Amino acid sequence: RKENMGPFNETHPFENIANGLNNMVLELQQLEHMRQEFVSNVSHEIQSPLTSIKGFARVLRNAKLSEQERQQYLSIIEAESERLSKLSDNLLKLASLDSERHPFELKRYRLDRQLSRIILSFEPQWTDKSIHMQVNLHEVTVEADEDLLSQVWVNLIHNAIKFSPKDGTITIELKHDGSGLLFRIADTGIGIAKEQHEAVFERFFKVDAARSREAGGSGLGLSLVKKIVELHHGTVQVESELGHGTAFLVKLPDCQEEPAS
Ligand code: ADP
Repeated sequence: RKENMGPFNETHPFENIANGLNNMVLELQQLEHMRQEFVSNVSHEIQSPLTSIKGFARVLRNAKLSEQERQQYLSIIEAESERLSKLSDNLLKLASLDSERHPFELKRYRLDRQLSRIILSFEPQWTDKSIHMQVNLHEVTVEADEDLLSQVWVNLIHNAIKFSPKDGTITIELKHDGSGLLFRIADTGIGIAKEQHEAVFERFFKVDAARSREAGGSGLGLSLVKKIVELHHGTVQVESELGHGTAFLVKLPDCQEEPAS
């Protein structure tokens, strides 16, 4: 093509503009595709709890039911409403983080204390499944948005419990690591196949849609984890083999100044 470019073998200015426009069109097409996929995922996630809420409400109104059945159906309606409200919370948070409008409140605080509180708040869930919880937290100070980071720990701990069998073991570690800090949570649960390691951080991704729905998930938890960690200049990684448990590693920059009291 070069020989057709004119006397000085220079790129014709219009050719640059045309290339630029073509690239823009391609990008816009990709964005439009992503937008359509997003809307279709959201609709799907809204549709399934709504269908069961409507269905069970109808049964409650029409059928002759025992008190036990009534209570059971009401619990399903409650759980599905909870799922919708979690979905809407997560979507709003992602949208606000994407748009960079989210008010970032950086402060220095003791990460080990935040983790202890959050781990303790999960005690009913892990004891319910007779899970052995092994925790080893070193004293670590971070400079971060405390509310946002709390979402990271909650989502990772929640998943570890959710995907662990009865009598499983969850190990949580926090320590300094080179120039940063390392949080590691490992479970002895079902594991994730290598081919899916990257995909688990994508929005709406679920390894097993039916199982995840049963457990109340909508595939947004890990994408929020990744987004929040990256906004704090950190990284998140998964180490896992199918059937052999899963570990998530979060690395964050260390806080250089003296420890928070
Ligand atoms: P969900 O709300 O469906 O749990 P997440 O974004 O938190 O969505 O996780 C995405 C998928 O990654 C889950 O549906 C599950 O298949 C897989 N996953 C996440 N954490 C674990 C874990 N600790 N063990 C096994 N699979 C996991």
